Amino acid sequence: MQAARLCADHSDLRTGGSRVKRLDWLFKAQEDALHAGDVADRDPVVMGVDRSTIAPVTRIALFAAPATDHDLADHPERAARVPAILAALAADPWTSGLPYLSPKPATPEQLLRVHTSEHLDFLERALAQAPAYIDHAPTYITTGSLDAARLAAGAACTLVDALLDDRLDAGFALVRPPGHHATPDHAMGFCLFNNVAVAAEQARARGARRVMIVDFDVHHGNGTQDAFADNPDVLFVSTHEEGIYPLTGAVDEIGAGTMCNIPLPAGAGPAAFERISDEILAPLASRFAPDLLLVSAGYDAHWADPLANLQMTVPGYQRLSARLRQIAHDSCNRKVGFVLEGGYDLEALSAGVVASLYGLQAKPSPAPDPYGPAPRREPEIDSVLAQVRRLQRL
Ligand SMILES: [Zn+2]
Repeated sequence: MQAARLCADHSDLRTGGSRVKRLDWLFKAQEDALHAGDVADRDPVVMGVDRSTIAPVTRIALFAAPATDHDLADHPERAARVPAILAALAADPWTSGLPYLSPKPATPEQLLRVHTSEHLDFLERALAQAPAYIDHAPTYITTGSLDAARLAAGAACTLVDALLDDRLDAGFALVRPPGHHATPDHAMGFCLFNNVAVAAEQARARGARRVMIVDFDVHHGNGTQDAFADNPDVLFVSTHEEGIYPLTGAVDEIGAGTMCNIPLPAGAGPAAFERISDEILAPLASRFAPDLLLVSAGYDAHWADPLANLQMTVPGYQRLSARLRQIAHDSCNRKVGFVLEGGYDLEALSAGVVASLYGLQAKPSPAPDPYGPAPRREPEIDSVLAQVRRLQRL
C-alpha cells in the first residue's frame, strides 16, 4: 500500500519537475547578472552610492534545491514546500528581483566531515529498499531522496563558499530534505544529512576559525548539537518549544560551553524572540566573535503551523531576521547564511521566508502577511531567560 501511494506521488511530481526546469533556466540568467556584479545595484536605494559607507546594503542571493523527487503523500515534509516559497518570492516585487545561484551536490568528503561512513552506507542500502521509512519520526526515503539530500547539503556549502569568497553578504539556501535532526550517524525527524552542520564544516575547512549557528525552528536541532557538542569553535544556539519532538534541548545542555538551548513555553512568539535576540543572541555573538553566522531557518514556530504551538508571526520573522543581520554586521564579519529547515503550513512558510529576506535587507516596509497577529497572549519567559543568562554567564 505504501509503494502504491509513492507511485501516485511520483506521477504528481512530473508537473513539479517541469516547473523546476523552467525555474532553472531563469536562475541561470540571474546568476549571469550576479557574476556581472549586479547584485546590490538592483536596489535603487543603493544606486550610485559607495556600498562600504552605508549599513543597509546587503548583497543577497538564493539557492534553490526543491527536491521534487523526495516526496511522500500526506507527509508534512512534502515536495510542494519549496515550490510554494519560490512562487511567493516570484510574486513579490522586491524578492522577485533577487538572483539565484546554482547549488552543487555535496561531495563524499564534505558529508564525511559531519557524518560517519556507516551512515552514508546505511542510506545507500536504504535506497535499494525505497520507498521505505527509515526512522519512526517518520523519516522516509524514495528513489530520488539521496540525490536530493546531497544537493541540499551541497547548496548550503555553495552558499558558504559564496559568503567566504565575498560574493555575498547574505544568502538563503531553500533546500529539502531539512537537516537539523540528522545526527552524525542517524537519519531522524525527516532529515537525512545535516545541511547546516555540513555547511559549518565547509566554512571551517575554508579557514573560518569560529562559526555560530542559530536554529529558530520550533523543534530542537538535536543533530546539529550532536555534531558540535564537543567543539569549542562552533557555537550552537537553539530556540524551540519545550516538551515536543525530539525531547532534547534542555536549558542545562551546554556541551563544552558553546551550546545554548532556549526551550520556550507553548504560546511564545515575536516578543519572546525579540528579547532572545537582544538579551542572548547579540551578547553571545559579541563574545564569541565568529567569522560567519549560519541560521537553521525553520518556520514551524508560526502560530498557524500544524506541528507545534509557538506563536511566531510573519512580522516577527522579519524583525528576527533583521536582528540576525545586525548581529552579523556587528559580530560576524557581516556574513550570514540561512538554511531552510521545517515549516509545514505552506502560506506561513512562504510568507516567513519572504519576510526573512526583507529583514536581511533591513527593508523598512512590512513584508506581505497573509495571517496577521497571533491569536493568544504570549506567556512570560523571564524565568527561562534568567536560567540561560546564568548558565551562559551573560
Ligand atoms: Zn521543525
